[in-house]
Amino acid sequence: METDCIFCKIVNGEIPTEILYQDDKLVVFRDINPHAPVHILIVPRRHIRSINDLTEEDREIISHMIMVGKEIAKDQSVNSSGYKLLFNVERGGGQVIFHLHMHLIGGWKKK
Ligand code: AMP
Ligand code: ZN
Repeated sequence: METDCIFCKIVNGEIPTEILYQDDKLVVFRDINPHAPVHILIVPRRHIRSINDLTEEDREIISHMIMVGKEIAKDQSVNSSGYKLLFNVERGGGQVIFHLHMHLIGGWKKK
């Protein structure tokens, strides 16, 4: 746990947040500033700074994040219409919270 990390605080319940799903490895909640009708964050409990900091032992958590993302997409009824699973990596890649997270974004209206 990093003391200054907002996502560590959410994971530990220090910042109250509506949790959509959680297990021993990760926590899922809505993005506070959604960029689409469905914008959800899938966040490992363990503090990892970014994709750049992944090690061999993190293979399991990354695949688990994707599998949970798939299930959340189904729960949110965006699985058929389609969605993005996105990692921003470091500042140039748009990352502003330096605790690994995957965005699930979707629910756009059909044109
Ligand atoms: P990134 O740019 O990939 O680091 O994304 C960080 C995301 O976290 C942004 O989309 C923010 O809107 C979101 N965010 C920041 N603080 C909170 C919070 N307290 N609860 C939920 N989402 C947050
Ligand atoms: Zn953290």
